[in-house]
Amino acid sequence: MYDTIIIGSGMAGMTAALYLLRAQKKVLVIEQESIGGQIASSPRVENYPGYKSISGSELTSNLYDQIEELGCDYEFEEVLSIESKDGYKIVKTDLGTHEAKTVIIATGAKYRRLNLDREEEFIGNGISFCVACDGAFYNDKKVAVIGGGNSALTIALDLVRNTSGVTIIQDMPKLTGEPINVEKITNNPKVNIHYNSKVLSYIIENDEFKGITILESGIKKDIYVDGIFVSIGTIANTKPFENLKMDDYKYIIGDAFNQTSEEGIFVAGDCKSKRIRQLTTATSDGTIAAISCLNYLNK
Ligand SMILES: Cc1cc2nc3c(=O)[nH]c(=O)nc-3n(C[C@H](O)[C@H](O)[C@H](O)COP(=O)(O)OP(=O)(O)OC[C@H]3O[C@@H](n4cnc5c(N)ncnc54)[C@H](O)[C@@H]3O)c2cc1C
Repeated sequence: MYDTIIIGSGMAGMTAALYLLRAQKKVLVIEQESIGGQIASSPRVENYPGYKSISGSELTSNLYDQIEELGCDYEFEEVLSIESKDGYKIVKTDLGTHEAKTVIIATGAKYRRLNLDREEEFIGNGISFCVACDGAFYNDKKVAVIGGGNSALTIALDLVRNTSGVTIIQDMPKLTGEPINVEKITNNPKVNIHYNSKVLSYIIENDEFKGITILESGIKKDIYVDGIFVSIGTIANTKPFENLKMDDYKYIIGDAFNQTSEEGIFVAGDCKSKRIRQLTTATSDGTIAAISCLNYLNK
């Protein structure tokens, strides 16, 4: 029986593992895809303390090496559910079951994609989702924001300060964000809005991202920009945990100690209900969940 099963090997899950392993606990990390989570595919991270610039894969493989050396067990399986029985937890996966005294859910979230040709190749090199992560790469450059809801408008308002211009692509006849943001955006001379428009494809020239082709009210148009920010929503990876308390967007609710609505089950990282989803908040959550777990185990 494990002391703790951690579901998800992103930065939150691996940070939690680091703390628990250093406290001599027996830990199993279960991962359904590959080590590192979302950030592993990012070519450049410039806002993680201690590194001027590092690729996501190097950052996550450093952390993986650190926990592997401490004796972390790993299984590559998809978690389907957690059940509580006689004071311990049974984690069911597509390949079997595992038992532990406590569980940390660190299954992250996904940005919705446009699902266009060659998209994965240009994420981090023309295609972005988060202004706090990649906004600074586009100072004095031209960008487009895909989406017209409140998150998209917030991104556009952030970007408009330091870029040379922002083009918004909205598939509806109007912007749907908060009226104050709509007013600020529509009055900003550096913003250009295409309504009733959808992105058809990316413009790639000599293997470099150059912009997007849109269909605006039935007419095809090429828009040349240095980068785009896709803001059409996020999806929390929380389907297997529907018995826990969640917010309206299906993110798991945790208290200040990252305890969920069920005793002995903790939450960390992007799958938690919170406002800011970054690497530093994911590792912070992992730390809090691990220390709460230790307090629970040592009771
Ligand atoms: C392209 C890109 C660039 C980014 N750049 C930055 C940046 O520069 N700076 C910054 O601070 N943030 C950045 N972010 C955000 C940052 O990556 C996330 O906030 C952070 O990685 C979240 O970590 P996490 O551990 O909570 O979740 P994740 O990284 O999402 O990891 C969750 C893991 O859980 C696994 N999992 C999910 N469901 C299951 C299941 N049922 N069973 C088993 N395993 C499961 C997933 O496969 C995944 O590996 C970026 C995000 C993206 C997508």
